[in-house]
Order: sequence, then structure tokens, then C-alpha cells
Amino acid sequence: MKCYECAKTGKETDTVAACIICGRGVCKEHLVREETPIWEGEYSIKLRCGMGTECKLDDINRWKKVLCIPCHKALKENY
Ligand SMILES: [Zn+2]
Ligand SMILES: [Zn+2]
Repeated sequence: MKCYECAKTGKETDTVAACIICGRGVCKEHLVREETPIWEGEYSIKLRCGMGTECKLDDINRWKKVLCIPCHKALKENY
């Protein structure tokens, strides 16, 4: 999978993780690891995988709270 953010600027970069919210692949330059306490407990927003299907919690744990930049921004605005 190629990084979505890099693709927008015409680059092709292999992804190292997937965003837990939108499921897009992100490279190490474009991932955001969210370490704030809000992520330790309940997720305050509705999580989705791909085409609107809800993720199982197991999947979310495996991805270790990695967000893409647009989702991270959206999340911050919702605090
Ligand atoms: Zn990238
Ligand atoms: Zn995302």
C-alpha cells in the first residue's frame, strides 16, 4: 500500500501503518501517534474501517493508535 498523503503530492512511499479511523495507509512521515490520555480509554468518536464498517476492537489495538494527518486534525477540532 502507498501513502495517501504522499500520493497527493505525486510521491510514492510505502506505508508503515494504517490510520485507525479511516484505514488509509500512512508512511512514517505522515503518521501521527496519538499519546493523549483520551485514547487510553473509550474512543470518543465512531471508529470505522474502510467503507463504513465498524472496526473490531482487536483490529484497533493491533494498529496501535496511528492516525493520518487529516484524521488527527479532525480529532483535535473535536476535543
Ligand atoms: Zn506520506
Ligand atoms: Zn485517517
